[in-house]
Amino acid sequence: MTLNRAYLDWNASAPLRPDSRDAVVHALDVCGNASSVHAEGRHARAIIETAREQVASLVNAKPSEVVFTSGATESNNWVVAGGWDTIMRAGIEHDSILAPAHISGARNVGLSVDRNGEVDVAPVTDVPVGRTLLTLQLANNETGVVQDVAKVAAEARSGGFVVHTDAVQAPGRIVVDFLALGVQAMSLSSHKIGGPKGVGALVVSGDVDLAPFVRGGGQEHRRRAGTENIAGIAGFGAAAAAARRDLANAHRVKALRDQLESDVLAITRDATVIGRDAGLRLPNTTCLALPGALAETLVIKLDLAGVAVSAGSACSSGKVGPSRVLAAMDVPADLARSAIRVSIGMTTTEREVAMFVDAWRNIAARRMETRKVA
Ligand code: PLP
Repeated sequence: MTLNRAYLDWNASAPLRPDSRDAVVHALDVCGNASSVHAEGRHARAIIETAREQVASLVNAKPSEVVFTSGATESNNWVVAGGWDTIMRAGIEHDSILAPAHISGARNVGLSVDRNGEVDVAPVTDVPVGRTLLTLQLANNETGVVQDVAKVAAEARSGGFVVHTDAVQAPGRIVVDFLALGVQAMSLSSHKIGGPKGVGALVVSGDVDLAPFVRGGGQEHRRRAGTENIAGIAGFGAAAAAARRDLANAHRVKALRDQLESDVLAITRDATVIGRDAGLRLPNTTCLALPGALAETLVIKLDLAGVAVSAGSACSSGKVGPSRVLAAMDVPADLARSAIRVSIGMTTTEREVAMFVDAWRNIAARRMETRKVA
């Protein structure tokens, strides 16, 4: 990271890991097409299959269950496009779930969300009609709130639905176990775990009948057409192997995040940590709201002070108005408009957190002065 900058926006995109960069650079020089039978083709194929094992191992899935895609947006679109009669989802899901679900022609059933950002699954077995998909994210990108996907999946599967989880934000931060969660499909993204952008996976168990979303050639065992992005896939695999080791140090990340939160609350006693009372939050994420402030202004002031954070999710930045996730949690609109997301990672340093806290202190001091003048 640049010496005088603090990058605290890991949920938008994590810095590229050195292991991943090496794997990408090596794979860029592989001229073979993985579908070719000659030695060059087999070399490309071997790189893809190694990465498949690495990604599978990260989430305790079988390699045969991992299908590489262009990213979690495609993975989410694919699963939602599965010809469902009913799609059950909450308003805190990513746009790559909500937007295709909206136009899918399926009956959309909203799951309710409480003030802590936890999805209420009580009505799960009552509502559905016909072939039903229940999709529930594992961890929220804005608040870090973790859902009890295993419990919901057990209930939903007893009702005969297919269960999918968008697990993009979770690997390396909490244990992600495809088998133990009991879901049939799971979306993953390379750049959220320190791999290159533009590559991801849908982990899908053999008992789900999911027609290909991208059609053409017979790649990925006829499940996803198109010549494979070998460099991206190799980098994703290397990042997955490294992310497995991150869990051992998640407590260090959590300690830094907790320090940041307690410093913020000591400086600005009226600030709120949204989702803090949830049963479980990602150790790296905090969603901070400062009454009376505007998130976009906070982001700009922090940026000028050398600190990168985001207002709501990076994917929805640029849109005016409070975050859809916070609205689904019933956070009052004024408070939601002031909410920023700070997300850190394995290589975040105490110095970077101190830069944030110093910048926050300066913002708070100027806020006090403005209040005195007013
Ligand atoms: N799902 C969640 C929860 C995300 O945070 C994101 C990206 O912000 C995505 C899906 C989309 O992932 P990708 O950037 O790989 O398309």
